[in-house]
Amino acid sequence: MISKSTIDKVFDSARIEEVVEDFVALKQRGVNKIGLCPFHNEKTPSFTVSTAKGIYKCFGCGVGGNAVKFVMEHEKYSYPEALRYLAQKYNIEIEEDQYSEEDSKIRSERESQYVVLTHAQKYFSDILMNNEEGKAIGLSYFKERGYTEETIEQFQLGYGLDTWDAFTKDALEKGYQLEYLEKTGLTIVKEDKHYDRFRGRVMFPIHNFSGKVIGFGGRVLKKDVKAAKYVNSPESEVYEKRRVLYGIYYAKKDIIAQDNCYLVEGYTDVVTLYQSGIKNVVSSSGTSLTVDQIRLVKRITNNITILYDGDPAGIKASFRGIDLILQEGLNVRIVLFPEGEDPDSYAMKVSTKELHDFLEENAKDFIAFKTSILLEEASSDPVRKSALIRDILESVAVIPDAISRSTFLHECGRTMDISEQILVAELNKIRRKNTNQMRRQAGDYRQEPVEIPINEYKSGFPAESENVYDKGVSISIEPQERDVMRFLLNFGDVRIDMEVKEAGSEKASKGGGDITVEQFIVNELTNDGLEFEIEVYSKIFKEYEEAVKSKNTLDQQYFLKHRDPEIAELCVDLVFSPYSLSKNWEERHQIHVSTEEMTLRKAVERTVYSLKMSKVKRMIAENREKIKASEDENVRTDLLKQYGGLLEAKKFISKVLGRVVN
Ligand code: ATP
Ligand code: MN
Repeated sequence: MISKSTIDKVFDSARIEEVVEDFVALKQRGVNKIGLCPFHNEKTPSFTVSTAKGIYKCFGCGVGGNAVKFVMEHEKYSYPEALRYLAQKYNIEIEEDQYSEEDSKIRSERESQYVVLTHAQKYFSDILMNNEEGKAIGLSYFKERGYTEETIEQFQLGYGLDTWDAFTKDALEKGYQLEYLEKTGLTIVKEDKHYDRFRGRVMFPIHNFSGKVIGFGGRVLKKDVKAAKYVNSPESEVYEKRRVLYGIYYAKKDIIAQDNCYLVEGYTDVVTLYQSGIKNVVSSSGTSLTVDQIRLVKRITNNITILYDGDPAGIKASFRGIDLILQEGLNVRIVLFPEGEDPDSYAMKVSTKELHDFLEENAKDFIAFKTSILLEEASSDPVRKSALIRDILESVAVIPDAISRSTFLHECGRTMDISEQILVAELNKIRRKNTNQMRRQAGDYRQEPVEIPINEYKSGFPAESENVYDKGVSISIEPQERDVMRFLLNFGDVRIDMEVKEAGSEKASKGGGDITVEQFIVNELTNDGLEFEIEVYSKIFKEYEEAVKSKNTLDQQYFLKHRDPEIAELCVDLVFSPYSLSKNWEERHQIHVSTEEMTLRKAVERTVYSLKMSKVKRMIAENREKIKASEDENVRTDLLKQYGGLLEAKKFISKVLGRVVN
């Protein structure tokens, strides 16, 4: 068990924006930072991080929480795993309360696979650097390719011995379980025999976004054999090929810094470009780019530059795939390498500066590139030319952003010498066709999340909906309870000028004045003996009650970082919910301006009395039912007396509400 003091340290040190920014690019937007939500697919950012409050919230899919929750959700970690991750990030030493059996026991399935994969990576690297065969064959191969020791170390390259089962045997001897060796594809099990998947190959470990080894690519070295040049790990629980980009872990910082991602074909291109100083480079490893991979890139940049070796047939074949990237709203540029060169061979030939310049000078916008390639072919054949125009417009049509589309149309019109109006008409036709197609495949159609631009929230309060009160017994008072919670969490420690009704005294003491919102609310509700019906609310309220009793103030941070995840999550929700985000109050320091204070005072009062009103109305309705049902005269008299009291209370509450409406 991780000690409580360690947990406290983690919660205190973890800064939400630093934690999130390891995975998501954020931009400042007012007092918050926003980015593309990593938990659902979206094209415009609705993932909001409040640095001041230490929490995140997505207005598209609704997820939200504090730093620990983010790590749990994003990395699929358990609570202790998330704490360990953050402890490592912030150099916090982990104290264990008891010696943990937990480590070996609770370790999840995925965790076991990571462990085996990490071991394999270390094993292959060790063989490469220290074993005779590894050095003679593997290491010398890498050196021949021009890889420096630094590169080899950085990319954790390795070598798998050319025997049937050297790796598996060693791993089993060391206590790694065959189950996980097989599940990760490192070992192939056939009946009671098992042997290594990677034999006599140099090894490229594949890392996920956060740097964990999830699979391998192994390149054969013997020239004569018919064996496949590359063998890759099979899919596993931790290695989903369509979601992985080779090199992303090493490249992400530079992709963000350069605001561009280079895309190449495979392992050797990535490694060589990286060594040559182009560090913002990834590859989709053999297959054409998937939507998931595109979205992975999109989390950190909107710009992708594809590097091609100069094979025209291959390029034309890839055009369709590129439309997929445009469709996701990314800007695509293309660099074509000279005939016979690929990024790897070219980068090895020229200096770092030459490579840089080459990439800069030769990057062409995709649509312009496609136009020029097709135009070259069609030359003066008008039939082919019109086919080509349609082809290009197909690419333009999928671009989600209208302004980009019209810019491209303008460009195309110019290079192809066609009136822009004709192009617009044609484009609209294609877009209409696409939309219809999409509708037809309705099962596949994804609804865009409803976006709520958070800065546009009206600084209002929940409208009092009379008809809700009138529903009587069946009404839920959750909304009213929720509103009171909202005020406690958002303004609990703000001081307001309010008359306080002392407990046990009938008279309101005037000018008791300066009290906090939480004192006011706790007094009002406990004096009337009211309790929260929703369990979490009730838990939170009890804490406020305790605090007020012992003259403490609980601030928002206390609840946002609450150790009870249910409470923390609810509070994030309440803090980020519309009514609390009103511009004027976002900066609570400014609350002292008297008119705003006035508004806050009224709003708190109104909210508390709205809750009271719904409670009373419900009690009245219940009371009425009971009166109708009662046969005993005495009981009836009592009930009627109660009824009168309730009507009195209702009248009083109405009066207060009338005073504080607006
Ligand atoms: P060579 O030394 O003959 O150029 P290579 O290892 O560079 O061989 P290429 O045939 O040039 O490989 O392949 C181009 C790129 O595609 C390389 O970056 C390589 O790592 C990658 N690649 C090739 N085949 C596969 C495969 N089956 N799976 C994943 N990546 C592959
Ligand atoms: Mn090559």
